[in-house]
Amino acid sequence: MSTLPMLAHLVTPGSKVKLSDYDTRANAGLDKDQGEALLAPLARQIDDLQELLYAADMHSLLVILQGMDTSGKDGTVRAVFRDVSPLGSHVTAFKVPNEEELAHDFLWRVHRAAPRRGQIAIFNRSHYEDVLVVRVHSLVSESIWRQRYQQINDFERLLAENKTIILKFFLHISKEEQEERLIAREQDVTKAWKLAVGDWKERERWDEYMHAYEDVLKRCSSEHAPWHIVPADRKWYRNIAVAQAIINELKPYKEQWLAKLVSVGAEAKAELAAYRAEQA
Ligand code: ADP
Repeated sequence: MSTLPMLAHLVTPGSKVKLSDYDTRANAGLDKDQGEALLAPLARQIDDLQELLYAADMHSLLVILQGMDTSGKDGTVRAVFRDVSPLGSHVTAFKVPNEEELAHDFLWRVHRAAPRRGQIAIFNRSHYEDVLVVRVHSLVSESIWRQRYQQINDFERLLAENKTIILKFFLHISKEEQEERLIAREQDVTKAWKLAVGDWKERERWDEYMHAYEDVLKRCSSEHAPWHIVPADRKWYRNIAVAQAIINELKPYKEQWLAKLVSVGAEAKAELAAYRAEQA
């Protein structure tokens, strides 16, 4: 694994992003079998790290997944977190806001879904919809959505300063790949339930969405909450790219989490010894 280059592209804070410069079909010189074989050990490492995150109870992890329809947000969750205990993780899918959510500020529903200490929260779509679909469809005025970039950065800084580790992934598929996936959906009885006319309608605004995503990536990638662009036309590549980036981010915390476990364990043992001495 150490010989593999980083598969997801980290967006340097403040840098201008042109999505067409990023190959959606990247393969890092691997074929499908090789790539698929890499997932199992990565998923196990994520499980190990999650157990430590939980037991140490010092930090939480927030993973945000964004991408066009069919980009594979659900599939990524299923693959990357397949070994993680449901006790330690929670997925929230953000849909069109309901009446109560719309009556609050746009971050209200999001903040409530933020992970508690020791836990992993995965967002399938997120507050970024409020500067993506909302912008593309002019659901609020420009002056309102424009100020949201800063509000999002402030919000994420608040979470980070309160020990939430944040990672954001844009699953980058091509328009052609999306068409293939939408058509495949129609032909698969187990997937046809996902069909929505809206998906085809949104496709017509592809370029506007890419432009809105480019602004998000430029304005909202920060040291404490970086964006990654994930080439996602190949599902196996997408999965290992996301898993690798998560492991890379969590690994440096391992030592302090272990140290905390050792000290908590020592305290518990001392208490037990004192109790036994009393009984003797
Ligand atoms: P999926 O995420 O699998 O596509 P849906 O088909 O239910 O799930 O799509 C959710 C829809 O909710 C998307 O079209 C998305 O743009 C929309 N949505 C999410 N958040 C918001 C928001 N804040 N404002 C408007 N629409 C939103």
